[in-house]
Amino acid sequence: MIRFQILETITAMGALLDLVVPVQCMGCGAWDTPLCQECSGIFDESPFDVSAYLRVYLSNVWCLDWYEGALRNLVLALKHDQRVDPYPYLLRLGHALAKAPFLSKADDLAIVPAPPSWKRRLFGNKIGRPLALGIAAYLAKQGQQVKIQDVLYLPLRAHQAGRSGKGRTERLKEGVKCVGKVGSKVLLVDDVATTGATLKACARAVEEHGGQVVGAVVIAAAKPPVQIEDTSPHM
Ligand SMILES: [Zn+2]
Repeated sequence: MIRFQILETITAMGALLDLVVPVQCMGCGAWDTPLCQECSGIFDESPFDVSAYLRVYLSNVWCLDWYEGALRNLVLALKHDQRVDPYPYLLRLGHALAKAPFLSKADDLAIVPAPPSWKRRLFGNKIGRPLALGIAAYLAKQGQQVKIQDVLYLPLRAHQAGRSGKGRTERLKEGVKCVGKVGSKVLLVDDVATTGATLKACARAVEEHGGQVVGAVVIAAAKPPVQIEDTSPHM
């Protein structure tokens, strides 16, 4: 009887906790799961090359999907939601990205995460390093030599410049700096590619320090605007 009461109390407490901190899917908002089965499908996606859609010239930029809908929600939650431990999800996203075909032959690779903004460095979650770890773990398992070099940063003064308006963040990120020497073959890692300007700035910084960028992987890329109007007659 007493045992039953304890059990009942625990169950009631659990229900109460659920009321206080309801769990919702980071992607679609479904209840009672941090990531539902459907949204978890992102871990099984095959990366594709989006370099042709970027506004800068950079070859081998691969992503898992477009930055929209559930994936956009998921990326934002992993970056900013302090109630979420993004680590296990980022590891799995890293595993998925490591399957980009151009990486299968890359040996002696240095994985370099793009730097977070200062705002996120102070108030957000760490993204780049766990993502890089996921990629490194997958490639190491295939017998490839990989290392992680967290060498890129954004100088604080770039944020004090008082620029405003559209594209501010993008412009700020163009001031990327690199500390120390980097490996000869570099893979850049970032959460999202919008125009590719940040990746380009990272590549420039890496190349100034002796690295050769072989490509980049991002979780998601901004979908290019539709350029061809569908004029086919409606059936
Ligand atoms: Zn979901």
